[in-house]
Amino acid sequence: MTSTPIDLRSDTVTKPTPGMRRSIADAKVGDDVIETDPSVERLQDLCADMLGMESSIFMPSGTMTNQIAIRIHCQPGDEFICESGCHIYNYEQAAFAQLSGVSARTVDGEFGVLHVDQLGGLIRSDNEHLVRTRLVCLENTHNRGAGRVQPYEKVVDICQWAKANGLRRHLDGARLFNAVVATGIDLADWAQHFDTVSVCFSKGLGAPVGSVLAGPRELIKGARRARKLFGGGMRQAGIIAAGALYALENNVERLVEDHANAQVLADAIRQIDGLSLLPDKVDTNIVIFQVDPSLGSASEFADAMHAERVLAMVTAPQLIRLVTHLDVCAEQVTRAREVIKQVAGSLAK
Ligand SMILES: *Cc1c(COP(=O)(O)O)cnc(C)c1O
Repeated sequence: MTSTPIDLRSDTVTKPTPGMRRSIADAKVGDDVIETDPSVERLQDLCADMLGMESSIFMPSGTMTNQIAIRIHCQPGDEFICESGCHIYNYEQAAFAQLSGVSARTVDGEFGVLHVDQLGGLIRSDNEHLVRTRLVCLENTHNRGAGRVQPYEKVVDICQWAKANGLRRHLDGARLFNAVVATGIDLADWAQHFDTVSVCFSKGLGAPVGSVLAGPRELIKGARRARKLFGGGMRQAGIIAAGALYALENNVERLVEDHANAQVLADAIRQIDGLSLLPDKVDTNIVIFQVDPSLGSASEFADAMHAERVLAMVTAPQLIRLVTHLDVCAEQVTRAREVIKQVAGSLAK
């Protein structure tokens, strides 16, 4: 009998637990397009409350909440400023351009972290040759920055600068709960510096589907219109909102376990010849490491791990990403660590 693989490719691979499935089965539902669905309503109220926002709206994905945020903040011909490695710019098919006629101006950060001094001078002057700078987007935790938590003071500085210069602020908080658990700074404290915030339930929180966009009532009303336009109006969506509610009630505090498991992997990788952490500091549940070409390529390394039933994601020719989550326990992480050591040893020969 072969064991089930230890899947460290992403925290999106988690499957709903029996408890979550029971609350999904029992969910009260209604038509959330004609009127409202009671479970969706409960989720939206809870999220608005937790984030300290007036209102929030449930959508099928973080891509949709991010892209609708951009759409409600910007007009065609507007531009937003973001960090070069961010999800909105790299992994959403430039939907802001395809669907909303908006362009992006990227700034290189250090593993996803920008400093306010990099932004001065980027606001375009009022001139008919130019796009209009309208919005700043930040990401916390930063996915490509290996789950980096944005330093709180840097977020405050950037948001204050943006506000003082008449720019809107959106936070891609797909993994904001990881930042909350890692820092002890609560959701509303992070959120207060932004006009809109999106959070995901299908990452570390372990729900099957869903994301919420929170913000001022008037903007969220606009987001509801845009959601229908983008094909995101869902009928008896309480079925999936129930999974998100269950996740909020049961799976937030336990993210510390994922963070501790990521440290176990990071500590091991630091000791292995031919592997180097990138960045060296692991803040939350994402570990990225570089494979020295003397061991071969990242895909060769990942294939060798796969043969031992440990799955990893290749993110660049020499880079591998490991993500800890609800469906990998400490024992499996120990096993994964041993496999990584063994693979590095065998490829070095
Ligand atoms: C996963 C993710 C999203 C949203 O992805 P979906 O798959 O569309 O839900 C947005 N931002 C970041 C940083 C993410 O990691």
